[in-house]
Amino acid sequence: MFEAQNLRLTKQRQIILDELRKVISHPTADEIYQMVRKRMPKISLGTVYRNLEIMSDCGIIQKLDVGGTQKRFDGTVENHYHIRCVECNKVADIEMKPNHKVDSEAQKMTSFEVLRHRLEFMGICPGCKGTGNNKGRKNKAS
Ligand SMILES: [Zn+2]
Ligand SMILES: [Zn+2]
Repeated sequence: MFEAQNLRLTKQRQIILDELRKVISHPTADEIYQMVRKRMPKISLGTVYRNLEIMSDCGIIQKLDVGGTQKRFDGTVENHYHIRCVECNKVADIEMKPNHKVDSEAQKMTSFEVLRHRLEFMGICPGCKGTGNNKGRKNKAS
């Protein structure tokens, strides 16, 4: 089924997918690269990046267009909502049922066939909020 020259790529892809699905942190490509490198020391950032793009194009993973400077990736492709910390840019999932009513409402108001919607909440995460000594309040997370 798989052609021989694709086999290696497929294995890399599988490991990238494994690592991404292990975490709930919605890592950036750089962070995924750091995780994958522990298992495949020879892999390059470019390869990781390319595979992430291919997998998100195929719908195996989700690319998040949330605020912040770097793209983040999500191993969960089912529609779910996110909340982002405006201080440290951390992205977390919200266990909230997607509201499909807004899809049909949006469809009624436009001539589009609405497929899905995205919703991003913004807030301050416990780590940034709870410190009281302003330790978490820095503009650059890294
Ligand atoms: Zn935060
Ligand atoms: Zn998510």
